[in-house]
Amino acid sequence: MDDLKYGVRDKRGDWKPNGRIEAVPLWSWPPKLPKVLAWLPGYIWPWNAFHMATALIYWFYVVPSVETMKTIDWRWSLWLYAVNAAAILVFYGIFELRYYIKRAQQTRFKYNHKFPGDAPSDVFWFQSQNLDNFLRSFFITIPLWTAVEVIFLWCFARGYVPWVGWKDHPVYLAALVLVAPAIHEVHFFFIHRLIHWGPLYRWIHSVHHNSINPSPWSSLSMHPVEGFLYHAVAFWHLVIPSNPIVALFQLHVAGFGAVNGHLGFDKLEVTEDTAINSHAYTHYLHHKYFEVNYGGDGLIPLDRWFGTWHDGTKEGDAMMDARFQKKRERMNAGA
Ligand SMILES: [Zn+2]
Ligand SMILES: [Zn+2]
Repeated sequence: MDDLKYGVRDKRGDWKPNGRIEAVPLWSWPPKLPKVLAWLPGYIWPWNAFHMATALIYWFYVVPSVETMKTIDWRWSLWLYAVNAAAILVFYGIFELRYYIKRAQQTRFKYNHKFPGDAPSDVFWFQSQNLDNFLRSFFITIPLWTAVEVIFLWCFARGYVPWVGWKDHPVYLAALVLVAPAIHEVHFFFIHRLIHWGPLYRWIHSVHHNSINPSPWSSLSMHPVEGFLYHAVAFWHLVIPSNPIVALFQLHVAGFGAVNGHLGFDKLEVTEDTAINSHAYTHYLHHKYFEVNYGGDGLIPLDRWFGTWHDGTKEGDAMMDARFQKKRERMNAGA
């Protein structure tokens, strides 16, 4: 595909999409139903549908019986860890292999023309972003993801929290599934905003931000505190009356869905003239500029409400620069 029909490439070779990151039409006033209906398929397909499919596969083929889960035990915990690690190895690995190792698409639709594998850096373990990110994901973050999973499954199995049945309340649970990505966005925004506060940033979140040019393995490359808080989004289903399948979906939106922001490409070419939208640009801008776009795509437009939204345009740049300028003035006045 010709990426210059969709964006521009600068002298360095970095590509950026034309136009602005569109606001989610749920928030336009007066409400525009046709726009909402046009937006809905892309909301469900392919990413959220994939997370639901994996949640169902887990529930029916991976998660042990309720009887087993009444007692926390290493065997089933390690089994869940092994499946989570294998699933991420395959799922993230497909993107890594096709777009970063084989470079099937070269730099078409790629925001940063460089590939992390070509740029050794001292900030990473073994000076390798790939190896550092990979090891942190598999030996720190995925074990914590699994810990969250074991805890909520155990709570459901023990009957410590309400277990809403699909037969009794199908409409309620279906609605909860549709709302889950919004819960993710709110949870992520606030924990993310919190760990951008100076001392917490240096202690915790700087690990994730070492990857200024993120690639799939960067997605779950986190400090343990962040790795736990990030996946703890599934605990909301211990507070809201819910069902373990919905909690698994919530967990997968976090764990599997983390890759979206870190794909590095705006579109993933599938054939000569078809491509999937990656939804990566919003979070790519966060890795590039740090103090913009703390949330996701703006399903709940918290960045707009808090004034930290960057829509990828020149106006977005200007708003960001004005905010940084004010911050500098405040800091100088205080010094
Ligand atoms: Zn990130
Ligand atoms: Zn951040």
